[in-house]
Amino acid sequence: MSGIEGHISADAASLLRGEIAAAGGREVFFLGHVNEDGVVVSAEVLARGTDVSVAAITQAGAYGDVAIHNHPGAVLEPSEADVTVSSLAACSGIASFIINNDVTAVYVLVEPMKPPQLKPLDAGELLGVLSAGGPMGKALQNYEERPAQKEMMAEVIDSFNHDKIAVIEAGTGTGKTVAYLIPSIAWAVTNDERVVVSTHTINLQEQILHKDLPLVRKIFMADFKAVLVKGRNNYVCLRKAHLIEEDPELFEDDDAAELHALLAWAFTTKTGDIADLNFMPRHRVWEKVQSTPETCLRAHCPYFRECFIGLARREAATAQLLITNHALLFSDIAIHAENGVFSDSTILPKYRRVILDEAHNLEEVATRHFGASVSRHGYNRALNTLYRHARGRETGSLMVLAAQLVRCEARGAERGQVDAMAARLNEVVMVSIPAVQFSANDVFDAVAAEVARARPDEAGTVQYRLTPERRAEDMWLRLQEHMMRLVAATRLFVKGVAEIIADVRKLALEDEKVAGALLDVEAHLGWLTSYAATLDAVCNDDSDQFVNWLEARVTDTVTYVSVERAPLDVADAMVQNVFEQYPTIVMTSATLTSRKTFDFFEKRCGLAQYRESFSKDPDVKKKARPVRAMVLPTPFDFKRQAAIVIPTDIDAAHFDAKSTMAGHGHSLRDAVRTLLDITNGSAFVLFTSYGLLRKMAREMEDDLAARGMNLLVQGSGGRDELLKRFRSESHAVLFGTDSFWAGVDVVGEALQSVIITKLPFRVPTEPVIEARAEYIDAHNGNSFTEYTIPLAVIKFRQGFGRLIRSASDYGMVAVLDRRVIEKYYGKWFLQSLPECAQMVGPLDELVAQASAFLTQHREAYALRRTPGAKAAGHAAAQAPPPAQPAPRPRASRRRAKDAG
Ligand code: SF4
Repeated sequence: MSGIEGHISADAASLLRGEIAAAGGREVFFLGHVNEDGVVVSAEVLARGTDVSVAAITQAGAYGDVAIHNHPGAVLEPSEADVTVSSLAACSGIASFIINNDVTAVYVLVEPMKPPQLKPLDAGELLGVLSAGGPMGKALQNYEERPAQKEMMAEVIDSFNHDKIAVIEAGTGTGKTVAYLIPSIAWAVTNDERVVVSTHTINLQEQILHKDLPLVRKIFMADFKAVLVKGRNNYVCLRKAHLIEEDPELFEDDDAAELHALLAWAFTTKTGDIADLNFMPRHRVWEKVQSTPETCLRAHCPYFRECFIGLARREAATAQLLITNHALLFSDIAIHAENGVFSDSTILPKYRRVILDEAHNLEEVATRHFGASVSRHGYNRALNTLYRHARGRETGSLMVLAAQLVRCEARGAERGQVDAMAARLNEVVMVSIPAVQFSANDVFDAVAAEVARARPDEAGTVQYRLTPERRAEDMWLRLQEHMMRLVAATRLFVKGVAEIIADVRKLALEDEKVAGALLDVEAHLGWLTSYAATLDAVCNDDSDQFVNWLEARVTDTVTYVSVERAPLDVADAMVQNVFEQYPTIVMTSATLTSRKTFDFFEKRCGLAQYRESFSKDPDVKKKARPVRAMVLPTPFDFKRQAAIVIPTDIDAAHFDAKSTMAGHGHSLRDAVRTLLDITNGSAFVLFTSYGLLRKMAREMEDDLAARGMNLLVQGSGGRDELLKRFRSESHAVLFGTDSFWAGVDVVGEALQSVIITKLPFRVPTEPVIEARAEYIDAHNGNSFTEYTIPLAVIKFRQGFGRLIRSASDYGMVAVLDRRVIEKYYGKWFLQSLPECAQMVGPLDELVAQASAFLTQHREAYALRRTPGAKAAGHAAAQAPPPAQPAPRPRASRRRAKDAG
């Protein structure tokens, strides 16, 4: 403790003193701003508290600021909570002072920090790492420099050095992960500024963690720490686990055995991460112990020191590189968007530079995270977590709160008040919970009944979009009435409990268990409140900025019903919450362009709007950050390695039942069988519809087995399990839909053929797709060419991209949808692919050509694998492709030309 001189100026001290006096001498939390010498010269009040505590809102500060609060007694010694808060703030460059009420003494917990001077990366030095004679060349046998990889690395370096946004399409085999990992680590180590790398799929995360980072560690001399960051709900909350252990009867129901196994693990695990559990608990059981931001007591938690979330956060806070997924990143971004700051509700510590890999998914991820959903399951879950009566037992967080109130150490008049509050809680439970439950069932039964009248798609899903016309229909008016009754019942219930909670808080009971129980109840009230707000908005906000729809998914045993709401456009949210926030953003993927431009990607993810805002406003223009987009070609020799096979005589029935050619030509089943025979399996068959996939699987399973091909069908096992089997079994055939079109890597002879059954157009009646298309049309656009086609082209490229994953891979991609050569838009699909051998014609003729193409590659492949035949094999690998593309049939060629 010392005098304030050199820490707080006289003017600032006077301001602090005045505010403390105005707060009656209670604790006040300030944010101080310093001069060049680190002396606080001004301050603002952020919170006022009690005689013993105040909310610490360090998130509002910037690097170099000082968090200041007073201790009303003369003792300025920091409490444990003070130390914790100041350590968290220090991670963001914020200092911490404690002062007395007269502002004559100060205890400096953390000294003011100066914003770091950033040191630019040395491009020459880093690019040298990738040179044949550099560390990479020494670490890898037969290493060959890849110009595209170096070009990408140079661009990423530039994005760090000049606060740029880079959009980089890097073809398969470019080595893009290493190209961004090396500059990211170099920047983080040199400037002590952590970098986040976010991916869409777990596969890519695993590749980075287990393949790329170990390589980078080997070749890159700097010592660095990289941490995989997972969502909070992956971790067990020790407070909840102890609460259950102490009062098991308040939590146990049908899942008692599983809950006990979970507790046994929770008290022995070193990580608290569900991935380390040796069994998979049911969701409703895990939910009882999982950590959530709403139920976390943070510094007031008795288990704060050993908390697994704290451990994970500390690990992340001390790492230079954070690997995470888009879902977690966007949940954190949504929390920042709501609070305007980084908060301790988020998992990711403060970061300013971000790499978004698999960026083609950004619009979809952002739509999900900036939208909302209310399901029967969600409502029931929130209600059951609050109160459940089963087998003569009452459980749930309201019962826990009532029990803790009865047990807490209140005396005299306070005792009577506390008991009365517990009794009020019981009353609310008895009256309001059944009312909300009844109303919720009423709504979701009515939605299910009404929606069930519509014809479900082959996956059993019905989506009923609320268009302005439908909002005038009797059906919707009836549903709206049910929904608003549920909204009213929910709000009444929440209000009743919230009033009791407010009364309990006024008593300022110093009881951790009561405090924890209050938070648990409030968290679930928060869910109900947001459900009610979403239903209210769906009923009453019909602005065209949101898409609202009812959804029912029917399975053999149950119907899942929900009410959905999503933003029509995520561009504004992306501009405000992403592009304007981070100085360096690198977005990359192998498939960002459509029709050779980034226009579609940039428009859909908001980058086009970000650029536009600069061009219009001269003031904003000054702050404009450069945006650069570039395409880097694949180093693979597609002309030699791949053939695209397009039969012209496949029955059109599976892609266009109304076609005049439907019912003529080879059936889809026969065509798939014929094509599978060419490679003897070793193929992915990609569908756009799960119904057709299942039908074909049923029809072909025995036939394929008789031919020695093992059929693996999406849905018959987890994706990773199916892939593992596919890689290890000879002649396997995998039937997949959506998730197998992208993010799947099978290298080598296990995959020699990809059969695309139909051009991957999204279902036009999907509510968000339909609404976006209508919006474009209504604003003088052409939704088909501006939206539907680009979406399909990107997906088509992803499907095609499954085939060639290494320089020695070879094979064919067959497209069984003639529209790719017959329709005017077909050329946009074909032109989006790398140049490769193209075979177009009747199926029977193509079989011979494709077989010859593959046989020659197979022989070359076998030669390369024969010991001692390396030179010959290499020569064969470098040889020009033997296959000659067949002439296209006249009719098809003419049609394509006419349309062009
Ligand atoms: S700090 Fe939060 S997450 Fe950790 S044990 Fe306590 S309440 Fe649970």
